[in-house]
Amino acid sequence: MNQQLIEQIVGEILGQLGKSPVQLPERAVPIAVSARHVHLQPEHVEVLFGAGYELTQRSELSQPGQFAANETVMIAGPKSSIERVRILGPVRKATQVEVSFTDAMKLGVKPPLRESGNIEGSAPITLIGPKGSVHIDQGLIIAQAHIHMAPADATRFGVEDGEYVTVEADGVRAISFRNVRIRVNERYRLEMHIDTDEANAGFITQGSIGRLVKSGDAKEVASVQATTEAVKAPTPVNVPEAYEFTKKLLSAEDVSEISEKEIVINKGTIVTALARDTARELGKTISSRK
Ligand SMILES: [Zn+2]
Repeated sequence: MNQQLIEQIVGEILGQLGKSPVQLPERAVPIAVSARHVHLQPEHVEVLFGAGYELTQRSELSQPGQFAANETVMIAGPKSSIERVRILGPVRKATQVEVSFTDAMKLGVKPPLRESGNIEGSAPITLIGPKGSVHIDQGLIIAQAHIHMAPADATRFGVEDGEYVTVEADGVRAISFRNVRIRVNERYRLEMHIDTDEANAGFITQGSIGRLVKSGDAKEVASVQATTEAVKAPTPVNVPEAYEFTKKLLSAEDVSEISEKEIVINKGTIVTALARDTARELGKTISSRK
């Protein structure tokens, strides 16, 4: 055999090995559950672990180049602290801590729901390492559910970077996630990232499979079912566009829980800065009732 032929065969075998042996259903998205973790900026690695210290790799993560470090830190809020929070590498421009809502309540902190990397005006937290501690004024967030994908996946699903979709997960406690942000990059591998609270709510374990549904598709499916069920012309499903909010205070949690894109509030309703922030991130508008 000549060299060229050998290379061709090796290439084909490697290609085969790279392919998933399980045939995934159409529009399937593998789900990964992200436990609480910390991303550190270089200076903070040295403060927490000592001068000249560098993170060491424990295991590779599914997204290329990302790794779980051997190192952990303690994170502390006004109410309590959580030990052994895993650090993810490599180092980043700004330190960021991602926790679940449950963690936040335990710590006594109020982090906003954010996309990773968007930490402007987020919550403060203290990190404690073996050699020192760091208090950051911002950087603590609850991560917004998102799907990493390569451009080819985006084309296949008919979605764009930055778009919000719904993901349905079947199971004993079937659940659907709304406002899931699409993140497209050449280096990304198809995978949805949710936090432990979201996973627990739907009995979802590492590697579960979700189904990507575009909001437009969901309506189509609903009307198709309605026509097959009713012989008469079905009454169109009335999906309210605006949510009538009647409480005195609109919080960030309210904004993320409300599925409608427009939130209508009373004249006297107080809107927290975090709520405005969250609305902006989720592409929702808050308007006053006339
Ligand atoms: Zn992610």
